[in-house]
Amino acid sequence: MKLHTSLVFQRLIPIIHRFIPADLRQSPPATTHAENLLSSVLLAAIVIPFYGAFYLFLGDGINARFCFLAALGVLSIPMLLKWTHSTAIPCEAFNVVVYLLLIALTSRLGGVGAPTVIWFAVCPLIATAGAGARSGVIWSGLSLLAIVGIYTMDVMALFPPVVVNDMRLLSVVSTLSLVATVAVFLLIFERVNSNAILRLDQALSIIHDLAIRDELTGVFNRRELIRVAEREKARVDQHGSPFSLCLIDVDHFKNINDTYGHAAGDQVLKRVALNIQEDIRKTDCFGRYGGEEFLLLLVGTNAGEAQSFVERIRQRIEAMRFPELTDGRSVTISVGVAEYQNRETIEHTLSRADNALYSAKHEGRNCVVVSEVELQVS
Ligand code: GH3
Ligand code: MG
Ligand code: MG
Repeated sequence: MKLHTSLVFQRLIPIIHRFIPADLRQSPPATTHAENLLSSVLLAAIVIPFYGAFYLFLGDGINARFCFLAALGVLSIPMLLKWTHSTAIPCEAFNVVVYLLLIALTSRLGGVGAPTVIWFAVCPLIATAGAGARSGVIWSGLSLLAIVGIYTMDVMALFPPVVVNDMRLLSVVSTLSLVATVAVFLLIFERVNSNAILRLDQALSIIHDLAIRDELTGVFNRRELIRVAEREKARVDQHGSPFSLCLIDVDHFKNINDTYGHAAGDQVLKRVALNIQEDIRKTDCFGRYGGEEFLLLLVGTNAGEAQSFVERIRQRIEAMRFPELTDGRSVTISVGVAEYQNRETIEHTLSRADNALYSAKHEGRNCVVVSEVELQVS
């Protein structure tokens, strides 16, 4: 059943979307209102002509004409939405059509006892779903007013004699179709709103991704790296187990830029980032620390293990070939490794990794150096 309804809506929503102007589709609340409004219009375009035919069958040609006329009015609502680029005016117009139709039908069906009276409940429903709570409250008031007005006119015997030849049949069909219409309306309303929440979820996930990822390379950015490092520190301070930070810097990168251009430099950064990213465990965290520097956080890894791990990365990068570097020269990296020491700040671990990186540069680059603290401890 779930699959069935979702298939129906998968087809229905794209059709409905064709009638929603592009500028309205930019705003999630306007899109939701427009989807609700057009779904209601679709329902009305089925139910109202059905009643037109039914009134003909029951011998009331005038009520049948009212229905067909109202159906034409309802069919113009999608055009109105396209012209006005707003949901408010078409929604109010739609409700006016339904409201006038109900008044007209009720006045020919004997007044307040007519089976059409209960249908005034759909006006606030349409208004709320298509234009928001304020419109819903206004149409609740107008519907109550209509019922009171019809009652007053009924008491004053102002309505013409009923011509429908089977009032019982009309009552039962009216009640059944009201229940079915409201049920379908609520089903569509729920689907449309679930879709809106899904869209919101997707937008949030895109925003989240933009906030934590580096634009050029797609790996994590500095903010996310620091956040993960702080989280790891908090975990390790409580439960023990080591972790290491490895600062990775591309050697002579300025020269790559100067020789092959900035765009080629960008490609090199991307390829280096991708290569390192591919080889790390899911629990580890890798990202761009800034410029041509990357940071690798290795969970549950002491300095010695980290050293061996990044040494393999260093060798792999050295062996890589870059199509951008037309003379076939290789790219190398220098790495500074620091294992987190109990209760020190992440800034401190990072600054030790940075010192180790500085030593690696000093030792001629293309090598891995471990922070001196670890060397003293071991
Ligand atoms: P070292 O071996 O000592 O690290 O030398 P280096 O040339 O790599 O280091 P330096 O700090 O002198 O130069 C880094 C260069 O990286 C300078 C800067 O223009 C370049 N750079 C920083 N960010 C980007 C980027 O996003 N794209 C490109 N193409 N270049 C970048
Ligand atoms: Mg460099
Ligand atoms: Mg650098």
